[in-house]
Amino acid sequence: MIHITLPDGSVKTFDEGVTAMDVAKSISEGLARNVISASFNGTTVETVTPLTTDGNLVLYTWKDDEGKTTFWHSSAHVLAQAIEELYPGAKLTIGPAIENGFYYDVDFGEHSISEKDFKSIENKMLEIARGKHDFKMRSASKADALELYKDNPFKTELIENLEDGTITFCDHSTFTDLCRGGHIPNTGIIKAVKILSVAGAYWRGDENKPQLTRVYGISFPKQKELTEYLNMLEEAKKRDHRKLGKELELFTFSQKVGQGLPLWLPKGAALRERLENFLKAAQKKAGYDMVVTPHIGQKELYVTSGHYAKYGEDSFQPIHTPKEDEEFLLKPMNCPHHCEVYKHYQWSYKDLPVRYAEFGTVYRYEQSGELHGLTRVRGFTQDDAHIFCTANQLDAEFKNVIDLVLYVFGSLGFENFTAQVSVRDPENPDKYIGDVSNWEKAEQAIINAASDKGLDYVIEEGEAAFYGPKLDFMVKDALGRRWQLGTIQVDYNLPERFDLTYKGSDNESHRPIMIHRAPFGSMERFVALLLEHTGGNFPLWLMPTQAIILSISEKYEKYSQKVLNLLENNEIRALVDHRNETIGKKIREAEIQKHPYMVIIGEQEEQEGKITVRQHGGADLGMITVEAFTEIINKEIKKTLKSF
Ligand SMILES: [Zn+2]
Ligand SMILES: [Zn+2]
Repeated sequence: MIHITLPDGSVKTFDEGVTAMDVAKSISEGLARNVISASFNGTTVETVTPLTTDGNLVLYTWKDDEGKTTFWHSSAHVLAQAIEELYPGAKLTIGPAIENGFYYDVDFGEHSISEKDFKSIENKMLEIARGKHDFKMRSASKADALELYKDNPFKTELIENLEDGTITFCDHSTFTDLCRGGHIPNTGIIKAVKILSVAGAYWRGDENKPQLTRVYGISFPKQKELTEYLNMLEEAKKRDHRKLGKELELFTFSQKVGQGLPLWLPKGAALRERLENFLKAAQKKAGYDMVVTPHIGQKELYVTSGHYAKYGEDSFQPIHTPKEDEEFLLKPMNCPHHCEVYKHYQWSYKDLPVRYAEFGTVYRYEQSGELHGLTRVRGFTQDDAHIFCTANQLDAEFKNVIDLVLYVFGSLGFENFTAQVSVRDPENPDKYIGDVSNWEKAEQAIINAASDKGLDYVIEEGEAAFYGPKLDFMVKDALGRRWQLGTIQVDYNLPERFDLTYKGSDNESHRPIMIHRAPFGSMERFVALLLEHTGGNFPLWLMPTQAIILSISEKYEKYSQKVLNLLENNEIRALVDHRNETIGKKIREAEIQKHPYMVIIGEQEEQEGKITVRQHGGADLGMITVEAFTEIINKEIKKTLKSF
C-alpha cells in the first residue's frame, strides 16, 4: 500500500501502481473527466503513470496553468503528426507549449506553407483528435533513437546531447516524438484547434543555423473557448496601442531619428504632461523632492554602480570627448545619479527619509527585432524616485509607496491587479549581499505593508534580486491580459557601492537603505498599456481634449468662440472644429478621435444661449446650459480622480 497526500492535506491509501487518474476517480467521476495532467512530488507525471511510492499528488484541470501547458504540449504532438501526414519529408525539430498555445519549428524542405494551408492543418489535427488516441510514454536506447531519426539532423543533434538511459518517446496513434513527458490522457480532449500564424525561426535561435518555419497554434477543450479567444484577439487588434497611437496622433517613429526612439506628437506630449503633473502633485504631498540629472554620465559612475557590468558591453557604446579623452555612457538607470545627489549633503538620522524623484530618461540598447511600439524602445522616461531611509523607517516608507501606487491605479481605472513579493531563496543564502537581519526586516516590512494595505499578493521565494527584496504590481487589462507595472525595490547594494552614510543618534556613521520605485514603470510603457486597456477612452481628467465644439455652419462661429471661452474659463479643455464640413462628417471624425463630449451649436442653441451635448458613443444629453455641462464634467472627473 502507498499513501498519497492531496493538496488539501488529506492522505489516501492505495495499492502500489495506482495512477493519478485512478486517484481522481476515487474522488469523483466529475473530477476524473476533467483531470488532464498531474504532478507527483513536484514532477510532472502522466495521468496513467503507475505510482509506486508515498508522495504528494496534485491533479490539474484546464483551469490550472499546468493543465493548459500539458494540453498545449500534447496539442503540439498532434500538430506535428498532422504536418508529417500532410507534408511528407518535412523534418520536425522542437515544439513546446507557450503562454497562449504552442508552436512547432519545422524544416518543410521543398514545401512552403502560408495562411491558405491553415485550414487543412486544422482539419487534419481535429481528425486525429477525434481518434481519441492515448498518449503513451516509452524509453528508448540512444542507438534506437538515433536510428529512428537517421534522416533528421535536428532530432539527431538533440539526441546526441542526451545521456543514454534518459531518452523517452511519446507515442500516440501512428506518430512518435522525442519527448520528456506530461500529456493529457488522450487526443479526444482536444475539441477546437486554430493555426494562428507562421514565422521564420532559426534552428536553436542561431542565425548561422538553418532557417525553419515556426507554426503557431492554439487549442481548447471546447469550441466556445476558441471562439472567445479569437474574439479577444480581434478586440486586442483594435486596441493595439500602435494603431491607436497613430489614430489619436499621440506618437510616431522616424527611421531618420532612429528605430525604438519614440517622437511624441503634441497630443501625446499633452497627455504625457498631464500624467506627469498628476504624479508630481501626489508626490509633492507624499514628501518627494524633484531633482534633475543629465542624460549621460561618466563610464566610471556606472562601473561604481555595477550598471556597466550589466548594460555596458551589451548596450550603447561609450561616447568619447574629442580632446580630454573622457568616456561617457548614455544613462541606463537614474539611480547612480541620485546617489550622487544624496552625497552632496551631510545627513543626520533626523533628516531621513529623503525622497528624490525625477522623470528621468534612460537609454538601453534593444535588438531591432525586439523593438515593439512603445512597449520595447531604446529610450524611455521612468517616473523614477529613490528613497533613502533608516531600517526602522522601511516599514512606513513601503506603506507610503503602496498608497501612492494604489492612488495612481485607482485614478486611472485599473481595478484588477495583484502583487508579487519577491524574497530570498532559502536554499541559497549566499547569493545575497547585505546583512541577514536587515533582509529579514525588509522582507517582513514588505509583507506587512502588503497585507496591511489589503493587497492580493503572492510571495515568490528566490525571485528577489541579489541586492534586495521587492514588490511588483501586475495589472490585468480590459481583455484579461497581464502586464507588469509599478515596482518597489529595496536596495542594500548601491548605498554600499556609493559609500552613502548618515549620522545616527549614536553619533556613528550608518548606511541608509535605498528604495527604488516607479508606479508607472515608464511613461512609454504606461501609455501603451493605458491605450490597450481603455481602447483610447482615457479617464476624462486625462483626455487632451474633453469637449469638441462643432458648429453647424460658419454663421455660428462667433457663438462657438464664446462657448469655448466659457468652457476654458471653467477649466475644461475644449477645441472648436471650424472647418467648413457637414455636421455629420464632423461628428464622425470626433467619434474616431474619441473626444468624450461633442458640443453642437446651431441656430436654436445661439438663440437660447445654450449648447447641445452629445457623448462619445452616441448618448444624447440634449440642449443644456454651459454651467450644467461644466457640472456634468466636474462630477465625472471627481468619480475617478480623488485627491491624494
Ligand atoms: Zn510530449
Ligand atoms: Zn533606481
